[in-house]
Amino acid sequence: MKIIKTENHITMTAETTDPKYKCISECKKVWWETDIHIEASILEIPNCPMCGGVLKVASKQDYERLN
Ligand SMILES: [Zn+2]
Repeated sequence: MKIIKTENHITMTAETTDPKYKCISECKKVWWETDIHIEASILEIPNCPMCGGVLKVASKQDYERLN
């Protein structure tokens, strides 16, 4: 299990990979590809499932691993 810390949340996940997206709007949560249902194009970055805000592709500086 991974524990990932972002500005507003601590997320625990069974995912073994690093988070794929990060919300840069209200909630600041990180998301994995399995959390996001991409309907249109694979080139299109989806909206945040929690706050409906803008997601960007996450990089290592966007979150902190606690374990
Ligand atoms: Zn959000």
